[in-house]
Amino acid sequence: MATRSRYAANGNARRRLREAVRSMGLPCAICGRPIDYSLPSGDPWSYELDEVVPVSRGGSELDPSNVQPTHRICNERKGNRMAGDQGARGLAVRRSRDW
Ligand SMILES: [Zn+2]
Repeated sequence: MATRSRYAANGNARRRLREAVRSMGLPCAICGRPIDYSLPSGDPWSYELDEVVPVSRGGSELDPSNVQPTHRICNERKGNRMAGDQGARGLAVRRSRDW
């Protein structure tokens, strides 16, 4: 029953964190290129707040040390991976669906 209000509170904290990271003006944590923070959120190169350890893997989306700024498109490409997973082997190694 408390679920709904918890989401609302998290949404607020999440928004504040998002703005705090935005105000730092950092480059994309994935590709290293600058982010145009003025782009609308639907733009592939717009700013997106990413979790270093994804929530689905137990990371916190509200922990300032677990979030980083990325391009929307970089974040989508990264999907659910952690930085350590990518390594030198690249992203295309295992798409395990067909085998
Ligand atoms: Zn990027």
